[in-house]
Amino acid sequence: MKYQKKINNKTKCLICPRECTLSEGQEGFCHIRKNVGGDIILTAYGKNTGLSVDPIEKKPLYHFYPNSKILSFGTYGCNMGCLFCQNFHITKTKQTPDSLPFISPQTIVDLSIKNNIKSIAFTYNDPVVFFEYALDTAKIAKEEGIKTVAVSAGYMQQTPRKEFYKYIDGANIDLKGFSDEFYKKNCLSRLTPVLDTIKYIKNETDTHLEITTMLIEGENDSDDILKAELDWILDNIGDLVPLHFSAFTPRYKFIKKSATKPETLYMARELALSFGLKYVYTGNIINKETSTTYCKHCKKPVIVRDGYRVLECNLDKNGACIYCNGMCDGRY
Ligand code: SF4
Repeated sequence: MKYQKKINNKTKCLICPRECTLSEGQEGFCHIRKNVGGDIILTAYGKNTGLSVDPIEKKPLYHFYPNSKILSFGTYGCNMGCLFCQNFHITKTKQTPDSLPFISPQTIVDLSIKNNIKSIAFTYNDPVVFFEYALDTAKIAKEEGIKTVAVSAGYMQQTPRKEFYKYIDGANIDLKGFSDEFYKKNCLSRLTPVLDTIKYIKNETDTHLEITTMLIEGENDSDDILKAELDWILDNIGDLVPLHFSAFTPRYKFIKKSATKPETLYMARELALSFGLKYVYTGNIINKETSTTYCKHCKKPVIVRDGYRVLECNLDKNGACIYCNGMCDGRY
């Protein structure tokens, strides 16, 4: 593995900012990287915990080939330590790789082609930890004209990030809360590397970017925190990046917390719109009005959704509004 450094008898992994320094036989924080003979290896390469066909809206990506299907897969383990993890049965499991089927990158791409599926998503757990497997799949997909999508928390080092996003067409990055305190306490990680990834994708790559913030009442939904997030977005990546406020369901260590009320999501969405963001959505709830895309020029509904279902698309094949001919930002 090229993103590593030998230090005396140990090897440091340089994929994510955690920089686990591992002795022979020791596993990293993510549980799927291990020091074997002085090299850090990905023990979960090809080990799939799920392979399914989703609507692309479920990632969520609302401005990237809307109403198309995406072949989604992941492995297990994670480099974040979120106490509220919504997928903890996959991210916190210590499954042995032998118990999982091996599915090669070529097989995944072949399945997409055979079933006429436009894109492949690295999702369910964070592709940062199964970097080599995701990257090999993305390289083959690119050669075959299949798009690739990363659903990630963006907690990644600069050099592997640069190599990875060269091959990724779309990304939804989880911005879990807008304070370092929140990241330290609830995700056992730090905010700044995530912001660096978001800025990098938006400003230095061709990858289409959307952002999701899952609101947990009393933790990351105060007015001040939300305003700080919105100010940062406007200053660093602009008003056209789609932003999703999604609802939290009590799980894992946050099992006793309350589920997010729809009103909390509506309030955050209104705030973001009042700051001038053009595309703001609610997620994990069903609401036609707050999951619909409105033309930024004439304000008419151009992609009408009910949850993840697209009911109506009023864009032409290039993404222009059929009412006013103004372009809707995204890939179509
Ligand atoms: S990818 Fe895994 S092993 Fe590597 S630094 Fe991050 S948590 Fe540690």
